[in-house]
Amino acid sequence: MPETLIQKADTIITMDDGGQVLHGADLLIRDGVVAAVGQGLQTTGDVISGRGCVVTPGLVNTHHHLYQNLTRAVPGAQDALLFGWLQRLYPIWGRFGPDEMFVSAQLGLVELALSGCTLSSDHLYLYPNGSRLEDTIHAAATVGLRFHPTRGAMSIGESDGGLPPDALVEQEEAILNDMIRVVDAFHDPAEGSMCRVGLAPCSPFSVSRGLMRDTAILARDKGVMLHTHLAENDEDVAYSESQFGCRPGQYAEDLGWTGDDVWHAHCVKLDVTEIDLFASSRTGVAHCPCSNCRLGSGIAPVRQMRDAGVPVGLGVDGSASNDAANLIGEARQSMLLQRVQNGADAMSAYEALEMATRGGADILGRPDCGRLAPGKRADIAIWDTTGVSSSGSWDPAALLLAGPTQVKHLFVEGRQIVRGGEITSLDLPQLLQRHNTLARKLMEA
Ligand SMILES: [Zn+2]
Repeated sequence: MPETLIQKADTIITMDDGGQVLHGADLLIRDGVVAAVGQGLQTTGDVISGRGCVVTPGLVNTHHHLYQNLTRAVPGAQDALLFGWLQRLYPIWGRFGPDEMFVSAQLGLVELALSGCTLSSDHLYLYPNGSRLEDTIHAAATVGLRFHPTRGAMSIGESDGGLPPDALVEQEEAILNDMIRVVDAFHDPAEGSMCRVGLAPCSPFSVSRGLMRDTAILARDKGVMLHTHLAENDEDVAYSESQFGCRPGQYAEDLGWTGDDVWHAHCVKLDVTEIDLFASSRTGVAHCPCSNCRLGSGIAPVRQMRDAGVPVGLGVDGSASNDAANLIGEARQSMLLQRVQNGADAMSAYEALEMATRGGADILGRPDCGRLAPGKRADIAIWDTTGVSSSGSWDPAALLLAGPTQVKHLFVEGRQIVRGGEITSLDLPQLLQRHNTLARKLMEA
């Protein structure tokens, strides 16, 4: 692969182990990795000017439900709490099929790419009408993002006391068999991998204790990661206490759901004991501030988690509960919420950006991503700070305070997939037309 040199960037925020921030510096990409960062670098390959720009590692999204892009701002779900919101949306999602899964994943990943994301996980926990996990994996390949899909699942339907309608749940044996199938077919554990599969029963209130335990055993056998929703709001904690006789953290620990190969979404309601448990076991948290605000779930104790040593990354969560999926915007929201709770000095713009980059990469088991240093993957976001939203900023590198919310250029594995603010890997007008057609069909059904 030819070299690309990003030349004379105003600022390069490396997020490397020393936390280096360089000014008037260059970054050389070769064979999909960062070959060098520093002053006065040379190349015989392509040169991209970094003047007027801030360069950061590509952002990492640790929690999403891409299929929900077809159900943004659904009336009746706009102002509901979590459980009511789910009950409004389940029947609509039950009409999805492979086309809906593929196209919504493309759209969602394009939206993320434009906001600086180079690596996204996804949590797909319903498979109606012949949908399969690979519908989203093929979609990610067309966009060019690094992708960590998770094989989610629901097995307790309404007639068994669960929340989802019976038509949307699967048999547990079939779930485990399909988990094995998708890991064997699509999981690539190699450094620089573009696709890693995780296992992800939807939540403690939609699968059995047995499936939680068996999934953890299977994940360890296969060497893949575990993901689910945990302690999202007060109702969620109350469900755990009444059904399982313990708090969510205890439930997770009892079933093998703690460790550095596990990350849980939300964790808004973790108490001090649970925070200590997550810190000592290196269990990761995907913090989704906009979704938590949107559903009125509360403010996750991120300051307390970070201080205790819990690994924290950021997620936009599904587009039915955000309903935007701008990852740099999510980072800004995380910073603002911690200030609401703990004061103006509770979280700096830099710290929130760190969670959005190397923090997210670490909880996904990707120390090869999320930082700009020789040998790390060339996943790079370039932000133009000469436009309206940064004009007058005394510190354009404090991207989350002022500054653009869309990238100028984006590289994944050294390949440019956004150029001059435009996605280059697919035909966007055509995608929008397909996506809108499918959304209309769902609305009219
Ligand atoms: Zn979620």
